[in-house]
Amino acid sequence: MTTQLLMEVRDLVKTFGDGETATKVLKGLNLRLDTGELTALLGPSGSGKSTLLTIIGTLMKPTSGSHTMLGVDLTKADDREVTDFRNRHIGFVFQFHHLLPDFTALENVIFPSAVRAGRETEAMRQRGRELLAEVGLENRIDFKSTALSGGQKQRVAVARALMNKPELVLADEPTGNLDRESATQVMELIGRINTEQQTSFLISTHDEKIAATCRRHVMVADGKVTG
Ligand code: ADP
Ligand code: MG
Repeated sequence: MTTQLLMEVRDLVKTFGDGETATKVLKGLNLRLDTGELTALLGPSGSGKSTLLTIIGTLMKPTSGSHTMLGVDLTKADDREVTDFRNRHIGFVFQFHHLLPDFTALENVIFPSAVRAGRETEAMRQRGRELLAEVGLENRIDFKSTALSGGQKQRVAVARALMNKPELVLADEPTGNLDRESATQVMELIGRINTEQQTSFLISTHDEKIAATCRRHVMVADGKVTG
């Protein structure tokens, strides 16, 4: 399988606030991700991992620096183009699953797509069912999310992130709230999807056992990639 450049940030700077209270969090950070990579993002708490994931996810603009993905210069795109780009190409998994409690597993997986389209379609339901089977929840499709375990909820969140076949999934401490066994299952699932579908994953984690399941490790310290 050939790999190619998927995403690149160069000389990335992010400063929060201004004047006396300005905090420079990213200080000229460089990172390239290729298609099909499985990358752990490591670094002490407060080093800027979540800030970096938020910028790569196009949810926040950098103060300066370049950000390109799939050949598109995302610092130059307007808000509508960026939103459209994000919906098509990037999926998100967070530490807390952010599932809607009154919705079933299937409804949670298709909800973002249904909201964007303004309606729910049979094609969405079909894709959602396939994804839930893919993450091992074929017998939980119509369960309310509140009736699922923590690990199962996070697997629903992974299925939801994959709904639009994104090239890149950003996961911010996705196993931070799970017990060891559930965390291992979620990482096995991510590893399998990465291998089978060539989806690139960038996963921030504090957990060395979790990081060990990733082929590439990127260390962030003092606002830069250090290794
Ligand atoms: P990590 O995810 O590695 O723990 P973060 O990216 O969350 O690090 O935070 C890096 C630094 O940026 C911290 O010092 C944090 O307080 C600061 N920070 C993050 N978001 C904001 C914000 N919206 N306003 C001000 N400071 C922020
Ligand atoms: Mg964080």
